[in-house]
Amino acid sequence: MAEIRYISTRGRAPALGFEDVLLAGLARDGGLYVPERWPALTAGDLAALSGLPYAELAARIVQPFVGRAISESDLASLASAAYGNFDHPDVAPLVALGRGEFLLELFHGPTFAFKDFALQLVGRLFDHVLKRRGERITILGATSGDTGSAAIAALAGRAAVDVFILHPKGRVSEVQRLQMTTVDAPNVHNIAIEGTFDDCQDLVKAAFNDLALRDALKLSAVNSINWGRIAAQIVYYVWVALKLEAHERGLAFAVPTGNFGNVYAGYAARQIGLPVTQLIVGSNRNDILTRFFEERAMEMRAVEASFSPSMDIQVSSNFERLLFDLLGRDGAAVTAAMAEFRRTGRMPISEAAWRKARDLFSAARFSDQETLAWIRRMRDETGRLVDPHTAIGIAAGRAKRRAADVPLVALATAHPAKFGMAVKQALGDEPPLPPALADLAKRPEHCVTLPNSAAALFEHLRANAGKPRAAKLATIRGAA
Ligand SMILES: *Cc1c(COP(=O)(O)O)cnc(C)c1O
Repeated sequence: MAEIRYISTRGRAPALGFEDVLLAGLARDGGLYVPERWPALTAGDLAALSGLPYAELAARIVQPFVGRAISESDLASLASAAYGNFDHPDVAPLVALGRGEFLLELFHGPTFAFKDFALQLVGRLFDHVLKRRGERITILGATSGDTGSAAIAALAGRAAVDVFILHPKGRVSEVQRLQMTTVDAPNVHNIAIEGTFDDCQDLVKAAFNDLALRDALKLSAVNSINWGRIAAQIVYYVWVALKLEAHERGLAFAVPTGNFGNVYAGYAARQIGLPVTQLIVGSNRNDILTRFFEERAMEMRAVEASFSPSMDIQVSSNFERLLFDLLGRDGAAVTAAMAEFRRTGRMPISEAAWRKARDLFSAARFSDQETLAWIRRMRDETGRLVDPHTAIGIAAGRAKRRAADVPLVALATAHPAKFGMAVKQALGDEPPLPPALADLAKRPEHCVTLPNSAAALFEHLRANAGKPRAAKLATIRGAA
């Protein structure tokens, strides 16, 4: 098989192999990397993978995306280490809810959200590649809460990497913030930005688009734009299909969605041969994707805070990858559409391209009150506690499922204790913290606050990258 190569969705950056795409994150033309050709798995290939433990399956599914960049045995050990510290023997346990509905629990990793699936592996891939190259890089990322803690957990203390994580000040949950700011490692730098998650994401993009800064600091990304994360997330879609023996019959997924990374991995799973018949996007009141899939209206609005903060996003970065396929993989067309979206706040999309998306995707939005009602309903119907994101996924699945005879799998993206306040509002009691988080609020925090300004951020990066975190910076407990 020809070695895998990645091309930019904007068509004007050089095609790269896996290692370079992993380290680059965003392409130099502002686009996102996607495989030039999708690796293909036949139903027979899939059947041959059934029964493998999660980490072994991960190595097998990710290998074609890595190509010859990393040997099979190295990849197998990296995957085994990545998923060895999850707190459930199945890594991603599947729970039956009845009526052909299932819940896939993706919150058994070290930071209790699905982001660990990608980042525990990607952190190790970075380390492996950088050690071999003798290089040092600066990871810069924006988080609506869960990416940051997962990235920090995966990269804290690694010698070849500095990690700068931006979060919107006061707009992440208490547990999310503490999971980031209480990590005491010299290479971890938390920055609270006075703005929204979209502001944080724009600042990160601005840093990457400043090629001088980018080269000076060797900037790299672990946001969900990083292809390594998508590749790692494809695995649990395949895992479920094999568990349900649905690799020939087909199955539908309901995915609470923000940056479109998780559900895009479901799309990618379909592109490599998994019989995914429907992908259902759940959103909160920040419902740009729901308006797109249901009404063909992709219009930017202001971001509003909700009970599901990891989905408080208006511009879903990974959507560009789907757009690339909807527009016939025409980089110039994507560039033009994205420019118009930026300029006017409205994404131009033809009826034909939209219909293509509609064949596979549906979407539904839920208000905070509806989210709380679904948390109660799940407890009453099944005895399970679900977090607000997961509740929205389940609700969207129930609302939009097209075929009752096709199994529907809702992705449980976070442990309920990560969003204890919302669960408490729904049920009256806060869910117990997992033992690993029990003393979180007692640990000192490390974080600086910066205005929503590219200049301020760039100065901070230049001053701190490559050096151990300055001092024990201001304790922000209570200030957020
Ligand atoms: C990140 C996150 C989401 C959204 O996932 P995307 O890949 O950004 O669409 C949903 N739920 C939780 C708990 C998350 O952390």
